[in-house]
Amino acid sequence: MLSSQAKAPAKRRARPAGATLKTMRFDLVTLFPDIFGGFLSEALMAKALARGVIQVTLTNPRDFAPDRHRTCDDRPYGGGPGMVLKPEPLALAIEAAGTGLPRPWRICLTPSGTRLDQAKVRELLARERLLIICGRYEGFDQRLIDLLADEEISIGDYVVNGGEVPAMVLMEAVARLTPGFMGRTLSAEEESHQAGLLEYPHYTRPPSFRGLDVPGILLSGHHQAVAEWRLAAAVAKTLDRRPEMLASDELTPALRAALAALSRPAAPGAAAVPARPSPKQPGRKAAG
Ligand code: SAM
Repeated sequence: MLSSQAKAPAKRRARPAGATLKTMRFDLVTLFPDIFGGFLSEALMAKALARGVIQVTLTNPRDFAPDRHRTCDDRPYGGGPGMVLKPEPLALAIEAAGTGLPRPWRICLTPSGTRLDQAKVRELLARERLLIICGRYEGFDQRLIDLLADEEISIGDYVVNGGEVPAMVLMEAVARLTPGFMGRTLSAEEESHQAGLLEYPHYTRPPSFRGLDVPGILLSGHHQAVAEWRLAAAVAKTLDRRPEMLASDELTPALRAALAALSRPAAPGAAAVPARPSPKQPGRKAAG
């Protein structure tokens, strides 16, 4: 388990000659560092740490609180419920975690921050080093945000107990775009939101499951036809569930063509694109 101010294993992966893979570094400031134990010691995150694709440090503000109770919260000025995170121990923890180069981009996780989406994830990836500050209780003293944060980020319009789960969401979304994180870089490139589309539906064996067959084109072995079907399926799914994603003036010619093809009647014998790709799409009745 990673302890306060612990660094993940420093073992580096062997890089192919000429490769320019970078290490994405995450410095976390959290009152509950042990929450990250399982997250960082399992599956792809653990592998990425072991191979040096990502690096993670954990710093606990309690280690910077001057009193013997290691107090990091206090009552709000002006009254009201709950406790507010004190600025002093958090500021010291942020400064301790942020030493060295490159200078980290400091993010305070708050429900009122900029909503995290894939474009923001890509933007953060370019920063190379992120210092992520997890709130608790009623949140941060505003002066901490004003003085020390570069940006506030929210993972969505709902409130969870603390910044640790949002930090995992943010970290994993950035980490999986880091070159070397995924076995095949292409798998990240094809995912939902990456190309302004929701992803096409996936199928695996068996070819028939409880009366539902895999679309025949996927069994055909024709790579070009499969690619065209997938693009059309992704466009159909996006149009159905998130039409605003296709409202942009900056659609690629391939996307425009796929969109136009959807509104044309299908040619006889053409492979059917699922207008409703998942039988369990939320809020929709299964086709009869
Ligand atoms: N009183 C705060 C408010 O209404 O905005 C909510 C505090 S919340 C219980 C405690 C901490 O959890 C926050 O300081 C923040 O770090 C984190 N948090 C909760 N929901 C979040 C969200 N949607 N996005 C990012 N962080 C969140």
